[in-house]
Amino acid sequence: TTDPLDDQVALVTGASSGIGAATARELADAGASVALAARRQDRLESLADEIETEGGEALVVPTDVTEETQVREMIETTVSELGGLDVLVNNAGVMLLEPVATADPEDWQQMLDLNVQAVMVASQAALDVMRESGEGDIVNLSSVAGRKAYAGSSGYNASKFGVTAFSESLREEVADSDVRVTSIEPGFVDTELPEHIPDEDQREMVDEMLEGVTPLEPEDVARSIRFAVSQPTHVDINELLIRPTRQE
Ligand code: NDP
Repeated sequence: TTDPLDDQVALVTGASSGIGAATARELADAGASVALAARRQDRLESLADEIETEGGEALVVPTDVTEETQVREMIETTVSELGGLDVLVNNAGVMLLEPVATADPEDWQQMLDLNVQAVMVASQAALDVMRESGEGDIVNLSSVAGRKAYAGSSGYNASKFGVTAFSESLREEVADSDVRVTSIEPGFVDTELPEHIPDEDQREMVDEMLEGVTPLEPEDVARSIRFAVSQPTHVDINELLIRPTRQE
């Protein structure tokens, strides 16, 4: 039997934990060779071992995606080592919730650099490769926070609305080819993401919002990414909004 992603190459950023790690496993399970990018190399090495034990192919590409030259090298290394690039999952991100009045502007900058600028540069670099082959998938992790703004979430909201807007603009630009663009918009997912929230009140607010809610697991989001990139060439799943059933 052939798997839907046999002979395809997928690159996942932020593959060292959470949604990115689950997505790398899921795409490897669907037959893709996967390049794993993030800063924590030890985590990427153990994920690569795991994928290879399951019979898959994985490449570790240690990368800080906020560095433009590293992003371009990440794409080049993937293409030269794995033979191409069919699926790019721009997943690396951070959520530093703080009210506007007391926010550290450096936290805003970090979210814009990582959640938006890195996505744009990686998409540009991937497009060079995909334009040549005439097809490919660019999957960007936006969020419910890319569609709905909340008090205390201004910088994160600004970054994720940015991702959704960038994705739609890019989709229109490449609609004369078989390059597809997809925004994934999860609600609460049980990952390390809230651990970096600098403001204690905001961290408590997240805990309160989660009371009585079974959050999504990273695998739940990974399955939806697999679904999107496994469609026939003429079908582009533009957006997927996925909330835990009991999230308001
Ligand atoms: P995690 O904190 O578990 O994962 C974040 C990943 O980003 C890590 O692998 C981290 O790896 C990587 N990363 C951070 N900074 C950099 C950097 N400078 N260069 C390269 N990689 C980096 O969180 P999630 O899995 O939850 O988040 C993944 C994405 O999903 C994010 O874009 C997030 O906004 C989005 N999302 C998450 C939701 C949730 O509720 N969890 C809901 C909606 C969207 P390392 O530190 O090793 O570099």
